[in-house]
Amino acid sequence: MSRRLPRLDVGDWDGDIVRPGDRRDLEIVISESYSGNEIHLPVHVARAEKPGPTGFVVAAIHGDEINGTGIVRQLVLEEELKLTAGAMILVPVVNMPAFDRHSRYLPDRRDLNRAFPGSPDGSMARRLAHLVFQQIVGRCDFGVDLHSAAVRRTNVPNVRGDLDHPEVLRMTEAFGCELIVHSKGPDNSFRREATLAGCPTILLEAGEVWKVEQTVVETAVRGIRNLLIELGMAEGEPVLPTYQVKSRKTKWVRAEHGGFLHFHVAPGELVEKGQALATNSSLLGRVQNVLPSPANGIILGMTTLPAVSPGDPICHLALLDQPMRKIERAIDRLPEESLHERLRADLSSSLLVDEPAGSAEPE
Ligand SMILES: [Zn+2]
Repeated sequence: MSRRLPRLDVGDWDGDIVRPGDRRDLEIVISESYSGNEIHLPVHVARAEKPGPTGFVVAAIHGDEINGTGIVRQLVLEEELKLTAGAMILVPVVNMPAFDRHSRYLPDRRDLNRAFPGSPDGSMARRLAHLVFQQIVGRCDFGVDLHSAAVRRTNVPNVRGDLDHPEVLRMTEAFGCELIVHSKGPDNSFRREATLAGCPTILLEAGEVWKVEQTVVETAVRGIRNLLIELGMAEGEPVLPTYQVKSRKTKWVRAEHGGFLHFHVAPGELVEKGQALATNSSLLGRVQNVLPSPANGIILGMTTLPAVSPGDPICHLALLDQPMRKIERAIDRLPEESLHERLRADLSSSLLVDEPAGSAEPE
């Protein structure tokens, strides 16, 4: 199903002209603050001389997920894009009112990422969504939406999209993350609605809120460059991941008891069914229970807060139904300075991770 969206020209922003071969910083008025001042959306538009597709990279639809802001800034500042055809629209912060409050939500406590495609006369969220949708998605043929884990959690970089949509599938594969997760996204989320409107959009989930993490930025910039090469918009060879797996199902492993966690796995780690994920102990360190992995999979996300109550999410597992031995062998051969290894070390730097008591190194 495709919903109609009026197409706007990437070269004309309400009379501000961006010609082929130009790069411009623009400011679009998207709302007004409580003090009556205009709120601007900063946008960078880069056009190659040669015609081609137009894409977007947007960040901070959730105002506290600023890893994406760091990624977009890197793309703008270092002129990483080096476009040979087409055009790119880069938006470091979509949800400016939330960003200004270091918050996920808009000041009226609505989630902007449940308000798309929006409407010109609805709530604050829906009006903002409408403007962003018309101005950005309305100019594009494809897009990338950058997110991070919720507060007190971290995610290993993974791309998500509707894998039953051929263009979305192609983009998720080309991006070159190790982990691809099938998910259309919630109703009225940006990427779901953009894809429905004829602009196939993928989402990157990576790292924590309130941070710009070096290895997350490296992974994303590499992925976006890979994608542009795939779409004929940039030259060069794509940098492929060590392995690539798709997961169609994810599962949260939750705490059974209140207590303090000691983790045995890091984000991005492969785990087997039954493997110890974390030990839950009392505040004096007396073991209460060990949480086993319910299935084979990859640790997609984890809590960064070791104090838990029953039901609190601990590990988000991307379930895999393929044999993992081949992937494990590929990982074992990686040098320590590889992005994969540095990323794992980075993402677990705020967690205490070691082997469960009495266990030997797995074979
Ligand atoms: Zn988000």
